Amino acid sequence: MVRRAAIGALATFLAGAAAAQSRPLDDPALEARAQRVHDKVMTVDTHVDIPLDFATDAVDPGGFTKSQVDLPKMRAGGLDAPFFIVYTPQGPLDEEGYGKAQEIAVTRLSAIRRFVNAYPDDIGLARSADEARRIAKAGRKVAFIGMENAFPLGPQPTQATIDDLARQGVRYAGITHFGHNQFGDSSNPNTEGGDAEEKWGGLSPLGRDLVGMLNKAGILVDVSHAGRKTMMQAVELSKAPIIASHSGVKAVADSPRNLDDEQLLAIRKNGGVAQMVALDVYVKPLNAAQKALQEKIRKDMGLETSARRAAMSKETEAAYEQRMKGLWEIEPRASVADFVDHIDHAVKVAGIDHVGIASDFDGGGGVVGWENAGETLNVTRELVKRGYSEDEIAKIWGGNLLRVLADAEKASRKLRDQP
Ligand SMILES: [Zn+2]
Repeated sequence: MVRRAAIGALATFLAGAAAAQSRPLDDPALEARAQRVHDKVMTVDTHVDIPLDFATDAVDPGGFTKSQVDLPKMRAGGLDAPFFIVYTPQGPLDEEGYGKAQEIAVTRLSAIRRFVNAYPDDIGLARSADEARRIAKAGRKVAFIGMENAFPLGPQPTQATIDDLARQGVRYAGITHFGHNQFGDSSNPNTEGGDAEEKWGGLSPLGRDLVGMLNKAGILVDVSHAGRKTMMQAVELSKAPIIASHSGVKAVADSPRNLDDEQLLAIRKNGGVAQMVALDVYVKPLNAAQKALQEKIRKDMGLETSARRAAMSKETEAAYEQRMKGLWEIEPRASVADFVDHIDHAVKVAGIDHVGIASDFDGGGGVVGWENAGETLNVTRELVKRGYSEDEIAKIWGGNLLRVLADAEKASRKLRDQP
């Protein structure tokens, strides 16, 4: 009881804080429209990372936390349905590496379950598009589960293992993350760890099996982080629509993590969805002067390798982030408007039925104006300002994603009925 009361007080405090950070549109009619549309549509964010101690006494997402997403921020900003992510960093492709990754995956899966079980009146876990709609209709927030990187599935996953993931609520699974793995080539080879440009030339034989097993289980194949060839082969092979759960577009920001027009068209043809990611340097890449400063800071602090940065202490991290703020004095950090430029381009090429939104909060995501779930209305404001209709915004904010989920469920039933 005490805990609930404290959360209520914090939520009120936070709602005030969020209101202070919100940027109403100058035109009162447009502002009213933005608020009305935002209240009405289901806002789905397909990528929210969680810390390893999520849903413990250390980090209780039912109350106000230091994280970018928790229940009070979701309420304040009108974020309805995040995908919480089972992320595992990639280790060596051997028994020990797979074992460690599996432990991490189980830890995060249990944490998400613990969270929804602790707040049954506030949030429910959705295993299907219909279930998500039912939960939302009852006035609760929706939690989905996505898996970033199939690496922990080990050297020989079986259909039973994948089916079990589906039963536990996993709705999409990424083929790779940073570094090539047993299933295919990554868009970011781990060159420090000895990766060549390519390992498989796209999907590995095991990766091709994985696509089939995910289709059968009704889990979306996620091509974000996958190399271009891996992605195109997965789309070609998949018997269900696929998802790019958190990627930008190359035409606006040239990064290996972003999708080119041919890839966007492939997603359109496949009936899938490309979820635009609000991670600053994928929205707006660093320029040469910013890159030079970043390199200098890393060298000064002995943080040249990603391994060293991953291992830095909290104090070092704070000092590092403080110095990195200097980058935005050279050129402003990406804003909500820059982010919506990606949505505009993706809509132009892939069509309004194949685009969605992902924050990548608590995994590096955030742009000026959408720094946490409490500021989610600012994205709708920008969409309204650019002339998107209510129907179009409903599709972008979650309608497309729910359709793709339902289509993957249908494809799964059909594949299971085949002898
Ligand atoms: Zn990611």
